[in-house]
Amino acid sequence: MKLTFLGTGTSNGIPVIGCTCDVCTSDDQRDKRTRTSALVEIDGTRILIDTSPELRLQALATGVDRIDAALFTHPHADHVGGFDDLRRFNQINQAKLPVYTDEVTAANIRQRFAYAFEHPFPFFGGKPDLDMYVFDGPFDVLGNPVTPFQVGHGSWTVNGFRFDNLVYLTDAKVIPEPAMDAMRGAEVLVINALRHRPHPVHLSLEEALVVVDEIGPERAYLVHISHEMGRHAEVSAELPPGVEIATDGLVVDVPPP
Ligand SMILES: [Zn+2]
Ligand SMILES: [Zn+2]
Ligand SMILES: [Zn+2]
Repeated sequence: MKLTFLGTGTSNGIPVIGCTCDVCTSDDQRDKRTRTSALVEIDGTRILIDTSPELRLQALATGVDRIDAALFTHPHADHVGGFDDLRRFNQINQAKLPVYTDEVTAANIRQRFAYAFEHPFPFFGGKPDLDMYVFDGPFDVLGNPVTPFQVGHGSWTVNGFRFDNLVYLTDAKVIPEPAMDAMRGAEVLVINALRHRPHPVHLSLEEALVVVDEIGPERAYLVHISHEMGRHAEVSAELPPGVEIATDGLVVDVPPP
C-alpha cells in the first residue's frame, strides 16, 4: 500500500494570502502547503481522500493520472472545493466514479454541487459523474476493505478511515473511544495537528502527540498544518522519534499487516 500526501495545509493553505510571517515567506519548499488531501493506492487501486480546492494542481504535481474511487471526510470547503475536477477522471476512465461518504456529507455535496447530479451529459468529462455510496459502517472499495470511524470537529462529525495498517484522520478535535479503538494497531497514522496554541475545533500539536502516544504507531504523519505551527525545519527538529510533519507530495510505503 502506498500513501501520497497531495496537500498538508489547513484551510488557508500556506503561504496565506497577504501574510508576511517567517513561514509564509520561507524559501523552503516544505513550507508550501496546499489544502489537505491524500491518495491511497492498494494493489493498483487508487483511492482519493477529499477533493481539495487545489485537486488539479496536486494531481499535476504528483503525476496522478488516474483515480478509481474517492472518499469524503466531511463537507467543509477545504475538503470539497475541488469537486468539479473529478470530471477529468470520468473522462480518463470513460466511466462513472464511485464515491463513498456518510449520509450528512452526501446530502451536503448533492446540494452544493447539484449540477453534477441533475443534468445527464451525453459524454464523460462535462461534469462529475458519480455513483455515490453512503456508508454506515465498514465498506468495500473495489475489493478493498475500509473501516470508517467518526470524530468530533466542532458541531461537525468527520470520518477517519482505516485501511489495513494505515489510519487517515484529518480535522479531528474530539476522538471518542470507538474511534481510538478503530485506530489501534495501525503502523502508519496520519493525524491533524494545526499549531501549538489550542484551537476550538482542531487538535493542536500537543493534543495530536497525546493521541499518537496512545495509539503507538511505527510512524505518524501530521497534516492540516497552519502557518502558526512555525517553519517545517524548526518544528520537525523538536518532534519525538517516529513522528514527522507530512509535506505536499510526500510518498510513504505502508507495510502489509
Ligand atoms: Zn503566515
Ligand atoms: Zn473541517
Ligand atoms: Zn479542513
